[in-house]
Amino acid sequence: MPFTVHGLAVSQGIAIGHVHLVSRALLEVNHYHVAQKYLAEELVRLDEAVATVQGELMGLKAAATSGHTHSEVGAFVDLQLMMLTDPLLIDAARELVESRRCNAEWALVQQMEHLVDQFRQIEDPYLRERQADVVQVVERLVKVLLGHPGHLPPKRRDGLGTIIVAHDLSPADTIGFRDHNIAGFVTDVGGPTSHTAIVARNLKIPAVVGLHHVRDLVEDDELVIVDGSRGLIIVAPDERIVEEYHLRRSELEIERSKLNRLRDAHAATLDGETIHLLANIEGPKDLPAARAANADGIGLYRTEFLFLGRDTLPGEEEQYEAYRAVVKAMPNKPVTIRSFDVGADKALNGSHSRIEPNPALGLRAVRYSLAEPKMFLTQLRALLRASAHGRLQIMIPMLSHAQEIDQSLALVEKAKAELRAEKIKFDEGIRIGGMIEVPAAALSLGMFTRRLSFLSIGTNDLIQYTLAIDRSDEAVVHLYDPLHPAVLKLIAGTIATGARYGLPVAVCGEMAGDPNYTALLLGMGLRNFSMHPGNILEIKQQVLRSNLGELAPRVQRILKMDEPARIREAVDRLCA
Ligand code: PEP
Ligand code: MG
Repeated sequence: MPFTVHGLAVSQGIAIGHVHLVSRALLEVNHYHVAQKYLAEELVRLDEAVATVQGELMGLKAAATSGHTHSEVGAFVDLQLMMLTDPLLIDAARELVESRRCNAEWALVQQMEHLVDQFRQIEDPYLRERQADVVQVVERLVKVLLGHPGHLPPKRRDGLGTIIVAHDLSPADTIGFRDHNIAGFVTDVGGPTSHTAIVARNLKIPAVVGLHHVRDLVEDDELVIVDGSRGLIIVAPDERIVEEYHLRRSELEIERSKLNRLRDAHAATLDGETIHLLANIEGPKDLPAARAANADGIGLYRTEFLFLGRDTLPGEEEQYEAYRAVVKAMPNKPVTIRSFDVGADKALNGSHSRIEPNPALGLRAVRYSLAEPKMFLTQLRALLRASAHGRLQIMIPMLSHAQEIDQSLALVEKAKAELRAEKIKFDEGIRIGGMIEVPAAALSLGMFTRRLSFLSIGTNDLIQYTLAIDRSDEAVVHLYDPLHPAVLKLIAGTIATGARYGLPVAVCGEMAGDPNYTALLLGMGLRNFSMHPGNILEIKQQVLRSNLGELAPRVQRILKMDEPARIREAVDRLCA
């Protein structure tokens, strides 16, 4: 009998294939005594396993950085490589083998549990994530020690793909499955920002996560359908259901190819208003996708990705080259480059000497930049130099105080003065804008409009801070609601104030790329949407169907509502 299991939709698309259950080697570890005379051999076993896993990870890293996969993935692998040399894990396990005369896999699991316990007590979200990395790396070591033949599934010959079903997958596992005709990923744990989700989206493989005990519900080789758009899987579907899903999959493919025809269409509403659809990028590597979608420019360049996952900071020259490459690739189009937003879940290597009680509320974004003025100045100089090559504008993240704007602007002036003295060219009229991501900012816009040239609403953080929900904590992910009346009021208020003062306003959080919110944002008066390049054509389709004259009064009525169910219903009706 077919049955359906619901989880979280994290990577779109439909996959039909056979289950490959990934075993949980950690549950299979036995404890046994090793006689004194065999202890040296046991330590060699441990060392060899470490070397094997190092080799596996290096191979994965090479694959991850070969240009097909996200740069973040390489950073995840690096982290696990680092753990393999961490004395707290490996040396401590060696000591356990010697002092307790026990087998290597048991010693590793003991030490892993000890470390995980310590992480739990600290309750720091960043360290909590590292806890998963420790578990994943120990799981790899244990698999090698137990002689598991690796967990790569055989390639199938029946035309159907393989659906990987696991308790959890590390990014390294996920990349390792590439080239193995993997059709979909299904996991017990994880949320939309979990590593598996990020990598699956990157590889364009449908995925559903957070299905709790899915491993107990399916059998190896069983037929399943993964509906990555609705966030569900159908186990043991009958012929009729399979047929239906084949049809849906072809329809989705046709939709995609139809969308490609919109590439060169002018994004305007039915009543003739031009809407700017811009791309969010993390570096020059994302430019081909932005150009493929014919983006009207770059609305958010997250420069922190240049700083993450490395031991030394990028210098002025390296930064200048990256910024110039982006500006030159977008001739005559605006390129909004955000100063580095590090801290919280985007920590720099080696910056965790101080345990922060509350990283999301701590030293991140502009706060971090102002605490490290030399580092900030280097970036500002690189940005100014790149501004000589096109329409570059600078954006400061997570502002909440007037003095943060004043101090940032003073540093821009200092960088300009230095460049003038050095006779280095830059755009004298460069525009400086700020992100509205903190409720306090959205409620005190005067101090922003007086000092800045444009605003961009970061809905991801604005929602996090308005609703007091850590966006990286899967335990509260269900409370993350873009349609909460408080959130809508802050967004609408910012757009309206910008219009009143003639200051351009964009939205560059995930809401801008979600077709369910396009009509709502248009009705609020938004004219600049910045999103993942892969979403631009779908949003253009929504724009082409919209009539602002009709939408504006309907949205004004929604903004007066405060009953969530009514708001959701009314927003759904806007798109119908
Ligand atoms: C946001 O907060 O909406 C945003 C665009 O910034 P980031 O997601 O990089 O924090
Ligand atoms: Mg943000």
